Amino acid sequence: MIQHVVMDMDGVLYRGDHPLPGAVDALNTLRGRGGRVAFLTNNASRHREELAARLSRLGFACATDDVWGSAYITALYLSRHAPEARVFLVGTEGMRREMQEAGVEVVPTHEGATHVVAGLDMTITYEKLSHAHYAICSGATFIATNLDATFPDGPTTTTPGGGALVAALTTSTGATPLVIGKPQPTGLSLIAAAWGVSAGDMAVVGDRLDTDIAAANTFGCLSVLVLTGVSTRAEAERAGAKEKPGEVLESLAGLPAVLEDQGKSISRSGFIT
Ligand SMILES: [Mg+2]
Repeated sequence: MIQHVVMDMDGVLYRGDHPLPGAVDALNTLRGRGGRVAFLTNNASRHREELAARLSRLGFACATDDVWGSAYITALYLSRHAPEARVFLVGTEGMRREMQEAGVEVVPTHEGATHVVAGLDMTITYEKLSHAHYAICSGATFIATNLDATFPDGPTTTTPGGGALVAALTTSTGATPLVIGKPQPTGLSLIAAAWGVSAGDMAVVGDRLDTDIAAANTFGCLSVLVLTGVSTRAEAERAGAKEKPGEVLESLAGLPAVLEDQGKSISRSGFIT
């Protein structure tokens, strides 16, 4: 049985302000038989405390440490790989707080910036974009928390996502960012290390082939697509190896049974970083 599960949030656990049918029960079943669950989201606009509070409000009880948002993952990455970084942010107060708590220095303008981190920023201004542009053109390392084109602001509507703001800087500077969020496996790697398990011991559940499933396949986990969000069964059937899910479920309700079966046969890659 696979006991370590990483779940995407939107389109897997809830849509808008409504938990998806069977999702709360599925989570409780996994935990009731000793499973560990982490929540991995590309959402970079909120601190983990806010993300955890929202999950708990919707019935998915969790602690701040169970939630891995891409702002937090980016902050951890910088604190480990560039501890001397001076970072200019295109991001929210939630992102700024993640950086500060991880000990990452944030600077107010392009002057002296060694890194630019860009993600979803609801208070974006031309001035902020210009500081980021100056810094990147002066040689600062360009990092994107994620490349999500859109942000779901309701059950059927979206607004521009972090990727849309990153694209403004990609266009103006010609630079290509280092991407931290899914489909990159950085978050999965950090979670595996925190749990002390390898990829073969983990399952990743998501609703998007191009982010959730791609990250899981790259890292070597069992990838499980649920059809309650963005990607469809037809898209899963057409997908190439990189985005092909190991399992496809109508909803999260089917997950406990699948993990029980799959744990017997999944290959062990031993991949852990
Ligand atoms: Mg999703």
